[in-house]
Amino acid sequence: MQKVAVFPGSFDPITLGHTSIINRALPLFDEIIIAIGNNSQKKYMFDLKQRKDWIIGAFKSPKIKVDIYQGLTVEYCEKVNAKFILRGVRNAIDFEFEKNIAQMNNKLNDEIETIILFTEPQYAAISSTIVRDIIRNNGDAQQFLPKNIKV
Ligand code: ADP
Repeated sequence: MQKVAVFPGSFDPITLGHTSIINRALPLFDEIIIAIGNNSQKKYMFDLKQRKDWIIGAFKSPKIKVDIYQGLTVEYCEKVNAKFILRGVRNAIDFEFEKNIAQMNNKLNDEIETIILFTEPQYAAISSTIVRDIIRNNGDAQQFLPKNIKV
């Protein structure tokens, strides 16, 4: 059976922190679906198409697919036949947050496992939130972003 993982997130925008986790996870799976969660209640800096195009442009591997979903991540995993959710952890705050989501998701569907990779130290301080702040204030965010993203 194909090992499919879903990497869910907002990717507003995708950063080198995200790409590092995804590239390091590639040998573990036959396919990784980068799934942009679209929450109508949430305000994003970059529109869905822009975020999706940036993600597509950031990877060359045929094992990577990019998709958009709404609603529960586990339900999306069921739909695409993914048995794994991939997430990244930078610090203790992420750890507690990711642990809670993973345990809740496990209650919803115990056939789906969350796989956590710890960030490489050089990416530990990168977050989409801080990148958006830098962009808003006309700072140089380029160094935190994949090369195909020009902001
Ligand atoms: P969300 O909207 O769920 O917070 P994000 O797009 O911000 O989605 O993040 C998706 C996943 O990527 C999360 O597991 C998050 O912890 C992880 N992540 C974000 N930035 C980094 C980073 N710099 N290093 C490692 N993992 C990261």
